[in-house]
Amino acid sequence: MQNFPGVGVSPGRIIGTIRQMPKPISEPLAGERLPEGASPEEATAQLKTAAKAVHDELKERAVKATGDGKAVLEATALMATDTMLIKGAGKLIARGTSAERAIWESGASVSEMLLNLGGYMAERATDVLDVRARIVAELRGVPAPGIPESDNPFILVAEDLAPADTATLDPNKILALVTAGGGPQSHTAIIARSLGLPAVVAAVGVDELPDGTEVFVDGAAGAITADPDESLRSSAEAWAATASLLAEFSGTGSTADGHLVPLLANVGGAKDAVAAAALGAEGVGLFRTEFCFLERDTEPSVEEQAAAYKGVFDAFPGKKVVLRTLDAGADKPLPFLTDATEPNPALGVRGYRTDFTTPGVLDRQLEAIGLAAKGSEADVWVMAPMISTAEEAARFASMCADAGIRTPGVMVEVPSAALTAEAILREVGFASLGTNDLTQYAMAADRQLGPLAGLNTPWQPAVLRLVGLTVEGSVAEGHNKPVGVCGEAAADPALAVVLTGLGVSTLSMTARSLAAVAAVLKTVTLAEAQELAKLALSAPSAAEARAWVRAKLPVLEELGL
Ligand code: PEP
Ligand code: MG
Repeated sequence: MQNFPGVGVSPGRIIGTIRQMPKPISEPLAGERLPEGASPEEATAQLKTAAKAVHDELKERAVKATGDGKAVLEATALMATDTMLIKGAGKLIARGTSAERAIWESGASVSEMLLNLGGYMAERATDVLDVRARIVAELRGVPAPGIPESDNPFILVAEDLAPADTATLDPNKILALVTAGGGPQSHTAIIARSLGLPAVVAAVGVDELPDGTEVFVDGAAGAITADPDESLRSSAEAWAATASLLAEFSGTGSTADGHLVPLLANVGGAKDAVAAAALGAEGVGLFRTEFCFLERDTEPSVEEQAAAYKGVFDAFPGKKVVLRTLDAGADKPLPFLTDATEPNPALGVRGYRTDFTTPGVLDRQLEAIGLAAKGSEADVWVMAPMISTAEEAARFASMCADAGIRTPGVMVEVPSAALTAEAILREVGFASLGTNDLTQYAMAADRQLGPLAGLNTPWQPAVLRLVGLTVEGSVAEGHNKPVGVCGEAAADPALAVVLTGLGVSTLSMTARSLAAVAAVLKTVTLAEAQELAKLALSAPSAAEARAWVRAKLPVLEELGL
């Protein structure tokens, strides 16, 4: 047995065989020529064979797929043998360019042309880039990029996953997610929790294991073991029984003594919202609106946006839905808002700040929200991401008022916002702590980097102190405004108890975590949660804060959390 310790980010114990996510296809060198003596005709024929192979493979997958996925695969398959794409490459080959470089350049010009056409055509631009990478992979004889295909469920191993990868991730085919990079706040972690898949991140060396290796994954302990023994097999079997217990949530979050802590869901669109409502979520604490438009190169129209937002509102009639305005930037670029060449995207023009450089988009989004809210029964709250100052909060509140939005709020994810919470909360109606970014900025540790996972945890006493300061600012003289948590911290049952003890009023998480958080929260009184919060704040390190609190919550061990 070989062990790969990592950071557990989504509970569950499972055994399965692994498939490695292929490395991205590197760009062929600019100016790369055909090898000495190679004939352009032969190179063109090889290119056509490769394109045909890509077409056939995608077509075969389309036959097995259903719904949206089927249509996307069919359209992409056709793109692989598109006359303009192949002819363009053929012309370059005739002038001596290598086949790989030729298809790369031809793909770039077809994609640019589609972008310029706008509308539906522009949406296909990224498909051409996907197809050209697949053809280059075929020419090189290496695996195609993207989630591997398999008839049997497998454990997906990757360096890290981007939000866009999730579009093709079939939760019925994936048993668990394991990454060599990524931190506890990375999008791999968020995706895994939302799909209810066990996951471990920052497990160095796991990306070197050959495809087909059998491994045991413990997503709570952060352990990966290759070639597991009998005792690990029994542990995986025992988990299957506990997992069914953790699938039930009564629909009311509270401590043992009846202190209510509404448990809300984080969603990325109507489909998530419907699933969250079915799992008993008491409302939506974070609607990541940018997730509706990750594939878009152009700004969606007001009507299109209103329809997407209304889909979420309609899943929660009479309930609170907290919508976040577009948080574009860093790991979630939106081409119509962000600049891909920024040297430090996480510290750049992202979230609310895109209004500095692309004014109008936020106004139109607020208009769309106002429109969707009018026709719905949900209690709509709207917050801006990446607010850093009270002036920004005041300006956002006035933009909301102009759009007829009654409850404006802010995310507290920049340390300056936590430190000045009192002034900020004078301007808006509520705050929601985005502990993922708050941790990355408080610790100056990129949330996507595996080697920084030890720093990048909301158990850091510094982060817990910022949470405490925000709550203090919310109850300061003159106001008493709700402060929730919508970062991944809320989905960690032990940390959920600490956050409750620190005074946060709601916890929002992926709907799959609701039952586990509710089960643990109801084992403590509010006074006990407050004691545990003090204990965590007094710990000298994140690891000790976590260990000390966990030791006082034996229910975690009982439930395998
Ligand atoms: C956060 O930063 O905690 C948050 C909820 O936002 P996101 O993860 O989308 O950046
Ligand atoms: Mg954030």
